[in-house]
Amino acid sequence: MDHKGRLASVRLTLDKSHVDALVITHLPNVHYLCGFTGSAGALVIGKRDSVLFTDGRYTQQAPAEVKSARVKIIRKPVLTAAGDWLASQASLRRIGFEPAHVTVAERNVLSKAVRRGSKLVEAPPIVEQMRMIKDADEIGRIRAACKLGNDLFGVLLEAIRPGVRELQVAGELEFAARKAGAEQMAFPTIVAGGLRSALPHGRASTAAIPARGFVVCDFGVILAGYCSDMTRTLHIGRPPTEARRVYQAVDEAQQAALEAVKPGTTAGELDRTGRKLLHKLHLDRFFTHSTGHGVGLEIHEAPRIAAGQHEPLRPGMVITIEPGVYLPGKGGVRIEDTVVVTETGCEILTSCPKDLIVL
Ligand code: ZN
Ligand code: ZN
Repeated sequence: MDHKGRLASVRLTLDKSHVDALVITHLPNVHYLCGFTGSAGALVIGKRDSVLFTDGRYTQQAPAEVKSARVKIIRKPVLTAAGDWLASQASLRRIGFEPAHVTVAERNVLSKAVRRGSKLVEAPPIVEQMRMIKDADEIGRIRAACKLGNDLFGVLLEAIRPGVRELQVAGELEFAARKAGAEQMAFPTIVAGGLRSALPHGRASTAAIPARGFVVCDFGVILAGYCSDMTRTLHIGRPPTEARRVYQAVDEAQQAALEAVKPGTTAGELDRTGRKLLHKLHLDRFFTHSTGHGVGLEIHEAPRIAAGQHEPLRPGMVITIEPGVYLPGKGGVRIEDTVVVTETGCEILTSCPKDLIVL
């Protein structure tokens, strides 16, 4: 990973906006910029050098991971230490922080620390903007995470049987993921059977898989720091006509959205594409969430693929396309792929089949 290059481009943006230093406290942003994966750290990017503040638990790990910044192991809270260091640097007058990731208490710590004559300013989401466009290394890691997700789908098909608890299905999937090298799951696994499939975020529960009905399975792994995300919906028993109709509608809406992915299309336009198709079938009011989200170091990151989002798609973005239809008291269907935007369209990274699987 080109941490030096990333830090240099943050510094360039800071120069343009007349900010002398930036305090990074959001851990995925710290990870992205200097490679540190610990659970406590603040990275200060100054005019000439960058310093990572972390504590004694990371005495060995931090220097091993971080080559692009100086590492300071401190005994105080990391933000206090960062504030003290900033106060000692006379040339740093305008100090930026990440307003989306700092609590009021943390902001107060920084305000108290900055020198008289210096100013604390809300920085724009510089790192989030950079993270939207993945480099070849990152795309390689997301592709590997998605491939592992694809390979694990067979475990789900084996585990899902009427009478088995959703939690057991999730457990078998997660055990297989760990055995295959996943660091952890990207989010709590969703296995939602029967009436529970109408819950868009039906985390696996103690409910048993019913003898008949849809089962929505949404899961992702983290491999080498990067997430995968895929949803498939199966049907237990012969699906009635209405169930087939709903499944086909979601499948077509997802296909239409996938075909609309290309550089220049805005996130809002992409969201409308699948929704329009469901509207024709009078199912759009049951599609109650946005079409997708960026995927990378975090499972949900920029860009949001939702109504009113003007962000144009660009090559290197990795996003999900996940329309769903949820009929309360009946059941639900969601189909989700993770894709990377290319020069001409997109490459689908989650390649499991999407024809309705009947178990
Ligand atoms: Zn998902
Ligand atoms: Zn998703």
